[in-house]
Amino acid sequence: MEIANLVRPNIRKLVPYSSARSEFKGKAEIFLDANENPFETGLNRYPDPLQWKLKAAISKLKGVPAEQIFLGNGSDEAIDLVVRIFCEPRQDHILILPPTYGMYQVSADIADVGIRSVSLTLDFQPDVEAILAATDAHSKILFICSPNNPTGNNTELEHIRSLCTQFQGIVVVDEAYIDFSKQASCTSLLAEFPNLIVMQTFSKAWGMAGIRLGMAFASTEIIQLFNKVKPPYNINQLTQQIALEALETSYDDYKQLLSTLLSERERLVQGLRELPFVEKVFPSDANFMLIKMDDPNRTYQYLVEEGIIVRNRNTVHLCAGSLRITVGRPEENDALLNALNKRP
Ligand code: PMP
Repeated sequence: MEIANLVRPNIRKLVPYSSARSEFKGKAEIFLDANENPFETGLNRYPDPLQWKLKAAISKLKGVPAEQIFLGNGSDEAIDLVVRIFCEPRQDHILILPPTYGMYQVSADIADVGIRSVSLTLDFQPDVEAILAATDAHSKILFICSPNNPTGNNTELEHIRSLCTQFQGIVVVDEAYIDFSKQASCTSLLAEFPNLIVMQTFSKAWGMAGIRLGMAFASTEIIQLFNKVKPPYNINQLTQQIALEALETSYDDYKQLLSTLLSERERLVQGLRELPFVEKVFPSDANFMLIKMDDPNRTYQYLVEEGIIVRNRNTVHLCAGSLRITVGRPEENDALLNALNKRP
């Protein structure tokens, strides 16, 4: 499969915007090229458009070469760009596997790109045969979320491998919750599958949803396409600085908080399983759990009255009867369990 043949013709031909900061590469002291304000504020200059320092640090952490990394304004930006790179509006479509993260569909809807939905199986795994049967020459992207939101489970690697091999388009594996998972990242499959894009984020385990920093890992060919279509300075200076600082100084804190969240997850699972009205707590490899119960709407409303907001997934495909609950701080989880134990 040639990646170039999957790309929209206008993107293949696109002459990207060339910013002042990306045109000049040498050494200089006086920069009169970018219409910036010359007086130093700490933020008066445009940031590095390709974020090389930050990518070098991420490369070390993830074991992926810097040229195979794209950074986005959240992984939501990477999702949006991948749709616009590969899918011709009103002609091509993406494949999604509901129940799953909602932005794949929204990005396709905004781009006027079609959507084919192939339900996950009852144990929330991709139905490989059904997916392949639903594809044709206009099936450009398959989105797989692992661990999946809202179900919390990993997608089995054998299914991912099988789909990367057989699906004749781009396979995106969205690993927003991978840090909470016992399964290894699919970044180890990048060398084997040129059509694979793995997405991750600083919004979850790293605790930096506020800085908006997402990652896409893929072949250099695909990363160059992202770089061609992205807004010139999509990762602002503050985000680059704060993320770099966190990678350099806060790795131990990150590990510590991660381990607390994982033990809190197990404590919550136990506590929730003991509630008489809970039918099932689905096993989770993420920082949330899907819980099936007798009366989710009443429980949701009751929790709101107790000042606790969870996500009601009762009307979502295959999630009837379910609430999705994020693992909080220990005292918040205590409050949740206390409230649920007293549910009238
Ligand atoms: N993918 C999944 C599966 C998510 O649940 C989310 C956030 N809810 C995102 C991507 C987006 O993350 P970001 O904050 O990096 O845009």
